[in-house]
Amino acid sequence: MSELTHLTLADARDMLRAKKVSSSELTRAFVAAMERARMLNAFVTETRDRALEMAKASDERIWRGDARPLEGLPVAIKDLFCTKGVRTTAGSRILGNFIPPYESTVSQNLWDAGAVMLGKTNMDEFAMGSSNETSYFKPAINPWRARDSNENLVPGGSSGGSAAAVAASLCLGATGTDTGGSIRQPAALSGIVGVKPTYGRCSRWGIVAFASSLDQAGPMTRTVRDAAIMLSHMASVDEKDSTSVDMPVPDYEDGLEGGVSGLRIGIPKEYRLQGAPPEIDALWQQGAYWLRAQGAEIVDVSLPHTKYALPAYYIVAPAEASSNLARYDGVRYGHRAEGSHDLVDLYEHSRSQGFGAEVKRRVLIGTYVLSAGYYDAYYTRAQKVRTLIKRDFERAWEKCDALLTPATPGPAFPVGRKSNDPVSMYLNDVFTVTVNLAGLPAISVPVGLTENGLPLGLQVIGKTFDEATALRVGRSIELAANFTDRPRSWWMA
Ligand code: GLN
Repeated sequence: MSELTHLTLADARDMLRAKKVSSSELTRAFVAAMERARMLNAFVTETRDRALEMAKASDERIWRGDARPLEGLPVAIKDLFCTKGVRTTAGSRILGNFIPPYESTVSQNLWDAGAVMLGKTNMDEFAMGSSNETSYFKPAINPWRARDSNENLVPGGSSGGSAAAVAASLCLGATGTDTGGSIRQPAALSGIVGVKPTYGRCSRWGIVAFASSLDQAGPMTRTVRDAAIMLSHMASVDEKDSTSVDMPVPDYEDGLEGGVSGLRIGIPKEYRLQGAPPEIDALWQQGAYWLRAQGAEIVDVSLPHTKYALPAYYIVAPAEASSNLARYDGVRYGHRAEGSHDLVDLYEHSRSQGFGAEVKRRVLIGTYVLSAGYYDAYYTRAQKVRTLIKRDFERAWEKCDALLTPATPGPAFPVGRKSNDPVSMYLNDVFTVTVNLAGLPAISVPVGLTENGLPLGLQVIGKTFDEATALRVGRSIELAANFTDRPRSWWMA
């Protein structure tokens, strides 16, 4: 049974089509793996019965010769995507008992393509965090441990449960969302692939909103091909999200093996961080070398406003979050405080009980930067910086077709190490936030291990709506890196 859970999504698909395995067998293997891995706390809600029912329906379709593209493939869904009739918490107490009466467009697209839902994955509260430690449901744990160590490490965040579930082979793939790095950073820290598509590629409808001008859904998988397959069936234009874009969704799996010959790959000099571990720099150079060896031209580029990206993000994201989170008032839905004597009291108590410390910090910062006296000094200014960052990329595209950077400034860190130091936590996203501010697509690919045995990733950034090139470059790196290490299965109950 356990070999089945180690299949890639692409191989599982091919075996199902060839009727070498049934979806019910495959799903039972993943359900068993999920139930034995509760120590990882990767799932907030397991949907075993639904999974087995969906698998049975898929088997019937396969036997009828009526299989859809993802027919019978078990996946996990980040608990930020509303799932009809299945609790959706956003990692928060305030939505702890929320059962949506509707389905998010992205998850609906996956079900329409035949995928099977295993459950809802753990995450930082409202997707605010880089370690999964802000979850009301306790941190998810990284399946990877440092060599000769039993210390629990974070899987990254905010899509930490999805990352842990994919890395531990508890599902074939999972959805994530990325506002500042929440797909790519946990993917890198957990040794898997993560894709943040262009803003507008996937519909945001039914995804609990964090920062609406930055949020984007994407796949998290063990291989680049699997990410390409999943993304092809997550993306769509959607009349329910006016920011989704009406452009045909390519089959991203086609052309994946096209190689990088003749492509110009930019190396942005501002991404060389002082004080970053030398291993990161070495891997980055190694990545450039691999691409050159496969026929790409490596060019130096400059993205001069990079250093302002994190500060701008920490104004724009909290500003949008503070308005998006105003809806949680304890009246319409979600947690309601007991014993309040008037409406204001009810709002205050419901929100102060329902939100955790990081969410409160964001709401406070957001409210401050949007307040009458400070709006221009902070919010307007941050928006201007955002324009400059976008322009940096536009200039870079005159010289190159894609960019190569490290994915994160370091490997997975121990649970608790950074949770009391917000700034050091925020620094995890230095290499990823620029992409969200500019709305670009990017992929994080696992390429190697630190001396201590922990995974590290490289990031490929593409032009707007050119996920295909980012994926193709990612695939070339994956081929050269030949990263086949797996975490030891210490978590098996
Ligand atoms: N770590 C960043 C934050 O805390 C990004 C999170 C995300 O992409 N959702 O805001």
